[in-house]
Amino acid sequence: MTAALSTPAREQTLDRLDRERFDCVVIGGGISGAGIAREASQRGLSVALLEAEDYASGTSSRSSKLIHGGLRYLAMGDVGLVRTTALERKAIFRLAPHLAERRWMVVPTRSWAGLLKMRTGITTYEKLGAVEGDDLHRNWSVDEIHEHEPAIDTGVFKHACVYREYLTDDAHLVLANLRSAAARGAAVLNHAPVVAVTLEDGRAGGVEVRCQQSGRRVRVRARCVINAAGPWVEPVRRLEDPDAPPLLHLSKGVHIVMRAETLPINNLVVCNTADRRTVFVIRHGEITYVGTTDTTYQPGHAYWPEVSGEDVDYLLEPLARTFRTPTPTRDDVVSAWAGLRPLIAEPGKEPKEISRRDEVLVGPGKVVTIAGGKLTGYRPMAREALEAAAAACDLRLAPPADDEEPLPGGDFDGDLGRLERELVASAGVTPVCAARMVRLYGTEVADIAAMGAAPLAEGSAVLASEVDWAISQEGAATLEDMVYRRLRTALYSPDSAKPTVEAAARRMAARLGWDEARIGVEIGAVRARMAADLAFRDEA
Ligand code: FAD
Repeated sequence: MTAALSTPAREQTLDRLDRERFDCVVIGGGISGAGIAREASQRGLSVALLEAEDYASGTSSRSSKLIHGGLRYLAMGDVGLVRTTALERKAIFRLAPHLAERRWMVVPTRSWAGLLKMRTGITTYEKLGAVEGDDLHRNWSVDEIHEHEPAIDTGVFKHACVYREYLTDDAHLVLANLRSAAARGAAVLNHAPVVAVTLEDGRAGGVEVRCQQSGRRVRVRARCVINAAGPWVEPVRRLEDPDAPPLLHLSKGVHIVMRAETLPINNLVVCNTADRRTVFVIRHGEITYVGTTDTTYQPGHAYWPEVSGEDVDYLLEPLARTFRTPTPTRDDVVSAWAGLRPLIAEPGKEPKEISRRDEVLVGPGKVVTIAGGKLTGYRPMAREALEAAAAACDLRLAPPADDEEPLPGGDFDGDLGRLERELVASAGVTPVCAARMVRLYGTEVADIAAMGAAPLAEGSAVLASEVDWAISQEGAATLEDMVYRRLRTALYSPDSAKPTVEAAARRMAARLGWDEARIGVEIGAVRARMAADLAFRDEA
């Protein structure tokens, strides 16, 4: 079976949803829902997954993109969470090495005492995560900082402690899990909000879904319903129980993006903020991004929280104290994103003090809700939610697999450089294009290049065949799906973003039968999204 989420096959998926009775229907196609769908299909259940907007379009494409245990949660005493997530780094690397790239995290310190304190924390972190050999931390002297990270201000920082973390592409991690579930028979659909939970004798017997593309409404029957709607779990809970009490404390997290030459670093660097938090500065191909903020989000459950001038200034401020290069300004920010953390509320605490643990609840109609947690911990979370659902709804689960098969594109030893060289040699693409593609698709680059190696637009590091792949294998149904969460150019390739948008729209039109009016609507929607994320520039 192919691991396909096919946009042209949407109607057939709706027919299946209408016709079959599933063991399990999952609401939400972020990393939580995707992980549950994969785990459930691996353990012998028939599964349907419904996503209101696009896969990963909620929090799961707007994270810091780190597969990490979260060193700072150790200081908060969350040892269990850190152990689980620190160990998960190796597991995700094993399943999808292209989506867990090993990178150095550099923590500059001013003094020996600071360095020693940092080393103590990192040593504990490494023990919890069973880190060994070449991956163990090291210390840099001033000379080594000059050599490896010349932008760091060594007038201030005399030492650095350097430890391993893993960088992912969060949206593609979601897609890989969904495609893995689909390959085992799961029926998966995006742009399909669940609008009702159907109750039979007080128990959930399925859901009602409305396809946003065709308007078709379908009643999906299932023996259990799992609510994995992230920051939106509360409105979904109220479909089952209008009196469900509040559960979440939403926290907004903003990232800003600059061209790499504006902030020329090579690794991941930790900076301290004025309010004693840390932000990450992350080199990613042609860009460097900085994040994140952590502020209570009062307005509720908006899908696209705003990036304010205050958020941007907060992230720019520590750069001046860490780097010797000219400090970037608001004008240097070429793109930005904001996401909402679905934290489990702990009354009286600030977002930065709240644990990142997850929680599973069973509602009066036996709908199982999972909320909180981290991208990195998605597999244990999925297992926890599924086992709670099986217990609540009398489902028999096969035992968990000892030796899980790799995610799509993950069947290689982790040598990204070798995959890049092979792609350059076999398809004649540029090294920049190869580096980009290998980190999104892993070994599947060979399948994509076999569909054609022509660039999407002149000088672009994106292939036209990536658009075809995103439509036929990854369920891209709108231009925003394409440039934000498949090609990733809207965030990662500021210079080619405009020509890519136009060319991708034309290519999608040819594949999906869009007319000129539809092309105009799609391009307009993407431009409006990009402008909204940069609207802070107009603030006084
Ligand atoms: P989401 O990804 O939001 O998915 C929920 C989905 O449910 C959405 O796509 C939504 O459209 C859908 N939905 C809602 N209502 C309905 C409905 N009625 N019908 C159907 N679908 C519906 N974690 C890490 O491990 N590493 C990091 O570096 C990291 N950085 C972060 C940085 C920021 C700024 C933030 C905000 C979080 C970060 N996290 C990180 C945490 C991590 O991103 C989240 O824990 C995770 O993405 C949450 O995934 P989710 O699937 O639960 O929610």
